[in-house]
Amino acid sequence: MKRNLIKMLLLSMVMYSCNQKVEYASFQEYPVYTGDDLELTYSPDESKFRVWAPTADAVKLLLYDNGSEGAAYEVTDMKRSTDGTWKKEITEDLKGKFYTFQIRIGEKWFSETPGMWVKATGVNGKRAAIIDMNTTNPEGWESDKRPPLNNFTDISIYEVHVHDFSVSSNSGMKNKGKFLAFTETGTKNTAGEATGIDHLKELGITHVHLLPSYDYASIDETKLNENKYNWGYDPLNYNVPEGGYSTNPYDPVSRIKEFKSMVQSLHKAGIRVVMDVVYNHTFTGEESHLNLLAPSYFYRQNADSTWSNASGCGNETASERPMMRKFIVESVVYWATEYHVDGFRFDLMGIHDIETMNEVRAALDKIDPTIFIYGEGWTAANSPLAEEERAVKKNAKQLNGIAVFSDDIRDALKGSWMHSEIHGFVSGTDSLEESVKFGIAGGIQHGQIDYTKPIYSKAPYVNQPTQTINYVSCHDDMCLVDKLKESKPVGATDAELVRFNKLAQTVIFTSQGVPFIYAGEEVYRNKKGIHNTYQSPDSINQIDWDFKTKYNDVFTYYHGLVALRKAHPAFRISKAELIQKHLTFLDSIPQNVVAYKLSDHVNGDSWKDILVILNGNRKAMTLNIPEGNWNIVCHDGQINLTGIKPVSGMSFTVAPSSASILYIE
Ligand code: CA
Repeated sequence: MKRNLIKMLLLSMVMYSCNQKVEYASFQEYPVYTGDDLELTYSPDESKFRVWAPTADAVKLLLYDNGSEGAAYEVTDMKRSTDGTWKKEITEDLKGKFYTFQIRIGEKWFSETPGMWVKATGVNGKRAAIIDMNTTNPEGWESDKRPPLNNFTDISIYEVHVHDFSVSSNSGMKNKGKFLAFTETGTKNTAGEATGIDHLKELGITHVHLLPSYDYASIDETKLNENKYNWGYDPLNYNVPEGGYSTNPYDPVSRIKEFKSMVQSLHKAGIRVVMDVVYNHTFTGEESHLNLLAPSYFYRQNADSTWSNASGCGNETASERPMMRKFIVESVVYWATEYHVDGFRFDLMGIHDIETMNEVRAALDKIDPTIFIYGEGWTAANSPLAEEERAVKKNAKQLNGIAVFSDDIRDALKGSWMHSEIHGFVSGTDSLEESVKFGIAGGIQHGQIDYTKPIYSKAPYVNQPTQTINYVSCHDDMCLVDKLKESKPVGATDAELVRFNKLAQTVIFTSQGVPFIYAGEEVYRNKKGIHNTYQSPDSINQIDWDFKTKYNDVFTYYHGLVALRKAHPAFRISKAELIQKHLTFLDSIPQNVVAYKLSDHVNGDSWKDILVILNGNRKAMTLNIPEGNWNIVCHDGQINLTGIKPVSGMSFTVAPSSASILYIE
């Protein structure tokens, strides 16, 4: 069907070339519009419309009084302009009105679209809204500032879905499932312990990473009382916040203002905000708001002209085409400037080309070089884009200042994401030490790692530790509690599962690179054993805030890990050569134990030497350690930064399935 569409397009180009029509033999020949005024420039005096639709034979602008209902009150023809664009100016104040574009190619009128650069919409994102952006700023927005950040390795990321954060009955928050929940302070669980933003401050993480919060398609914003749920990996309007997270999705201003209020509140709490961006595919293909402007241009095709599907979602965008690249770069710049967003997590970043990602980095550097960029360094399926051009993990050395997720450390610690019954290092699996060491060193070259042995990567893939995200769980697949339970060795007790959990996150928070946790892991969340909860109900996905009390021991430990990392720059080294020089793995130690020393006040640490011992065995292990008067700060599932007890001598016993951390002043 799509092949026919392309044939029809080519035919139409020839047939209608007499009417100023330019023929394009390939997408490479499409004109590129370089201006910054695409689609709408609003002022009270006039609204200027300019839409890029280079293959259209005619373009209409439709004006509406309502964001979703009723017929257009005015339909006008747009005029062909420069570089594939069509123009129309209306010299009256259109504030409060809505609009769509509609293109004709040959005899066919395509569906209406609010455009792809649209910044405000009515309910369900079908019509673009004309608003005055100045009215979307919460009070004090002009003085909103990004919290300070020196190095990317100082970051601790907390990945959370807007709904999960507040929706439980014991969250203490009023704006359940809304952006505004992040503005509520003083909220408590049933036992009176802090929830919400106060909890995040208490935990000490530096960045909140929001699952997709742009306008996505899968939830009907007119039926929010049905309590449908989706992660949101189904993009509709990239430059508009999701309406379902606002208090009034019909009001175009509400979602924008409330998103900004959320950012402002997190910034006031000293927390930066990361957006999960999903430019790699759109919810629908032919009917997407992109495709309705320039059919097929924004998507990759296979050799036989069918659309390719590296996203596994039915289509993949073509970042290497200039107008798609321009769109991605300008979209992140827009979120960083208009919404003060501090970081971007690129979904399936491997679908994008390296050049586009480096242009994203360069554009954000101009705004603030501390804006963090990271992504999934893989695709979900094969792509026509050559592998050497993809922003995948193995090409990460060519990605300037962009980080990738380390599936190497993730699956070494907990076992394969694909096979839920397989367990990893923390549950006692043999021979994963080199994979764990790979993660500890932050994915950089280190002379004591045998690169033939890690489970996935057979070579270091980053230049600097700032390019590695260490994690053991995220929204995908089973959460940590469920995975450890599902894969538990025969005879493992519930108490042992807690030990495995603490050991896994100890590796994450003491490894070089950037630590990342999935929201609720710190209160021992579970998702009732469900693998991918992208449309599971709140009862599965919500954070049960009473777990903070019930699993206080787990929360206290996670809190200690975040505090340890924050207090000790030795765990946050930003330069590869310092790691190579000061991180030494201990030799001649028992199987399934990894131990290393961070030496000589590295990275300005107050502690002279630090010893980290990670015991993957389900029994206590004794090993030789360097001689000295050590103080223990982490041992047998407890952390106390002021010291648990002193120890000297060359023999040390680490408790079963746990970490010990020692230092010399
Ligand atoms: Ca939506």
